[in-house]
Amino acid sequence: MKILLTGCAGFIGSHTLDRLLADGHDVIGVDNFDPFYHRALKTANLAAHLGSGDCLESSSQGRFELVEADLAEPSTYQKLKFLADSLPSSPPSQGGVDSRSGDGVVAQSSPPSQGGVLPPERERGGFDAIIHLAAKAGVRHSIEDPIGYQRANVIATQNLLEFAKDEGIKQFVFASSSSVYGVNPNVPWSETHDVSGPISPYASTKVSCELLGHVYSHLYGIRFLGLRFFTVYGPRQRPDLAINKFVRLIEAGEPIPVFGDGSTRRDYTFIADIVEGILGSLHYQGSNYEVINLGNDQTVTLSEMIATIEEVVGKKAIIDRQPEQPGDVPQTWADVTKANQLFGYQPSISFKEGVAEFYKWWQQNKTVL
Ligand code: NAD
Repeated sequence: MKILLTGCAGFIGSHTLDRLLADGHDVIGVDNFDPFYHRALKTANLAAHLGSGDCLESSSQGRFELVEADLAEPSTYQKLKFLADSLPSSPPSQGGVDSRSGDGVVAQSSPPSQGGVLPPERERGGFDAIIHLAAKAGVRHSIEDPIGYQRANVIATQNLLEFAKDEGIKQFVFASSSSVYGVNPNVPWSETHDVSGPISPYASTKVSCELLGHVYSHLYGIRFLGLRFFTVYGPRQRPDLAINKFVRLIEAGEPIPVFGDGSTRRDYTFIADIVEGILGSLHYQGSNYEVINLGNDQTVTLSEMIATIEEVVGKKAIIDRQPEQPGDVPQTWADVTKANQLFGYQPSISFKEGVAEFYKWWQQNKTVL
């Protein structure tokens, strides 16, 4: 398949990119290297697919091309349209999917595209699917920069939905978030629960995008799959997220800021499980609109999380107790029955294994970090 992947230089995006390329798909990745965290980390995330000399423009090793652009800018729409229009059509492959090759800028060294899932009626050039992971992420920062979040998350998503509509792209996978559930005491959270009470600008942008997805699915038949990720962790995790931050501080012998009494709970999901879920939804051929939890269906308290890190790192944490933060929810807990029924999603990595994987990666990369 020819896939447009947004947020490809980020934590989840770069893992998704690795997997798509390994599976033989052609990928055009978009990222604006948002300064929310350091560019060097994002460049390192893409290292396996960059050209020599760290040159982003010549980035391709196999079937990957990087477009550095801001999805909220109208000019990006034009750039993507130009790219899509110049991608040649090819006859539908097995199962009716375009398996177009690159347009000359994308080198061809990976195994052939597997394809096999999109409807046979689609025969023009362009992309077969969009996986839209780009966003300004993080609840707390969204309170400081609500307009920036609206622009990067909602405007960018609508631009991309317009692009999908105009280009006849059927499959649209979107990174939503567990934060849409707000302070919902009825755990585990199911997709049937009400999401009209978000408590941060970030969460409200994700609800807005799910609603926009419904509009485009209803009006234009785009299959919109809103994946509600539950606290994702693992190698390359964003530096603002707790596991990454705590490992860094504990290793350095510095105090870790702990908000509240340690009883808040999170459903932590290992990155490899999330990528499985993204791939599952990429190939999902059922109804035209679904929101789907991707979590681990288990919760870990903040105190348990710190104890696990202490065990893995082999060092005690110095606790700097602080008040709970506005916008933070007391618990998250995913019911993942639906993802399991729709595409066999089954998270398999335990929290301790996942933290150990993160730590292994962190030790190997701490000079870049
Ligand atoms: P990330 O910040 O590592 O990746 C997001 C990428 O999007 C970044 O590389 C950034 O440069 C890019 N980006 C931001 N605004 C852009 C724009 N306007 N145009 C082009 N690119 C832009 O974050 P992540 O943790 O990998 O999250 C990926 C997605 O998953 C996000 O949509 C996020 O909201 C969602 N999500 C993440 C988690 C989590 O625990 N990590 C949980 C729930 C939802």
